[in-house]
Amino acid sequence: MGEEDIRKYLSRHTGGAKPAPKRPARIARRARPQQQEAFKDFSATHLYCPKCKQANPVRENIMLYLSDGNLFNYSCEICGTSVGTRKGGG
Ligand SMILES: [Zn+2]
Repeated sequence: MGEEDIRKYLSRHTGGAKPAPKRPARIARRARPQQQEAFKDFSATHLYCPKCKQANPVRENIMLYLSDGNLFNYSCEICGTSVGTRKGGG
């Protein structure tokens, strides 16, 4: 192996290597929890109404009186569509 070969060898294995393409730094944008998930434990006064296609103030109505907590129904104040239920004490 002559000096020239060594130089070629080195350039191929070191200098010839392309720098790893830099990826644009991703902005860690946390996805907002879906409305469906928020339903699990919410005490919101605004909920997404599928009919109005937007979050509207909701009316809380008790649906069922249960021994371990009552069941509440939330309906859109604008159109009256039921947008969710919640089980809770009180
Ligand atoms: Zn509505």
